[in-house]
Amino acid sequence: MIRASTGGCQASRLVLNHSVLLGSDPPVSHEHDEHRAGAEQVLRSADLRVTGPRIATLAAVRGNAHADTETVIRAVRETLPSVSHQAVYDSLSALTQAGIIRRIQPSGSVALYESRVGDNHHHLVCRSCGRVVDVACEHGAPPPCMTPTDGHGFTIDEAEVVYWGLCADCQPAAA
Ligand SMILES: [Zn+2]
Ligand SMILES: [Zn+2]
Ligand SMILES: [Zn+2]
Repeated sequence: MIRASTGGCQASRLVLNHSVLLGSDPPVSHEHDEHRAGAEQVLRSADLRVTGPRIATLAAVRGNAHADTETVIRAVRETLPSVSHQAVYDSLSALTQAGIIRRIQPSGSVALYESRVGDNHHHLVCRSCGRVVDVACEHGAPPPCMTPTDGHGFTIDEAEVVYWGLCADCQPAAA
């Protein structure tokens, strides 16, 4: 995502840093407000209308990596008790289409959502319990998984790599 940086914005940031350097009053923590403001900004930069369900859905996905829809709905209802399933489905779909969250669906699994996007990371998936773990892509520029031996003229923007196996908890204990 390209974020425009305006002169005015930088100037205000300088002022802010300056006051911190001067050792003025410690910044008051508005953690919740800041998160909400951040989420609103993310929606606006993607040209999405800011709605309560979208804000809450983004927060739920951020707080629950690789969550399925039911988990997201439960988490959203902690802040918006009366939100409908449909509103959460719609929010997940809009956020996914805008590239703010990523939807993965390992074979045999329901759709899972995560807010870690744009880093070409891959997943370890346990065949037994379904646990999903992030793994960084192999290093290299471009990463080796993005350069097939023959690209057939495609411009490639993503390599979806799933490593299947058994997580540490599901492996049979060594005899
Ligand atoms: Zn497992
Ligand atoms: Zn992931
Ligand atoms: Zn890779």
